[in-house]
Amino acid sequence: MQNPPADLPDSIEDLKAIIARQADAFTVLQHSLADELAASRQELAAAKSGLQLKALEIEKLKLTIARLRKVAFGKSSEKIHREIAQLELSLEELESEASGDDDPVALDHPDASASITGETSLPEKRKRRALPDHLPREEVRHEPQGDCPHCGGTLKQVGEDITEILDYVPGHFRVIRHVRPSLSCRSCESMVQRPMPSLPVERGMPSAHLLAHALVSKYADHLPLYRQSGIYARDGMELSRSLLANWVGKCASLMR
Ligand SMILES: [Zn+2]
Repeated sequence: MQNPPADLPDSIEDLKAIIARQADAFTVLQHSLADELAASRQELAAAKSGLQLKALEIEKLKLTIARLRKVAFGKSSEKIHREIAQLELSLEELESEASGDDDPVALDHPDASASITGETSLPEKRKRRALPDHLPREEVRHEPQGDCPHCGGTLKQVGEDITEILDYVPGHFRVIRHVRPSLSCRSCESMVQRPMPSLPVERGMPSAHLLAHALVSKYADHLPLYRQSGIYARDGMELSRSLLANWVGKCASLMR
């Protein structure tokens, strides 16, 4: 702020005009500072996630090198074995951390939801990978109860939405199919549908059981995610370490 000029006018109207001009200038300044601050914050966040991705790449490369050395120098080097296990673990940590923030790793995130609704009301959903057909399915139906909540008219079904969730009961996987019929009122044409129950990983496919199992295995039983990934594969479901790490990161940010 400048010092008040010595030659201030005596008229109150003129003084008011000066104050109003200064207030305007101040508001403009405030806005531009706020914009700058927001822009810098965005840049900082982008730089941070860029760094995280770089760190991730470096660890992945280190792991590749260690694996290659194992191939080159024979399978039985205990030291290389330990090195590889250690690298898998630090990768796991990095990937979990990366996914706690606004998901840079969510690209290969298989989402399982299919809609067979008659209408095309779907917003541009990302391409979702379906869950394997060979897994047993259990259906949970969410039927709207009663008549039209708006006019009391009779409802008729016009479609349904299905969301498939991957569930794990130690030893085997199964798929929970959430089926939500959509009904339309014969009188006023309102649409009625029960909402989807909330999921621990929004838009993701793991059930709370599966997440709990992975977390307990990792933190209580010290079973790293890359080992779990192998166990799950034997139980009939390919879940990459980075996908598991992504889920663990999401859970961690849920609990924060
Ligand atoms: Zn109605």
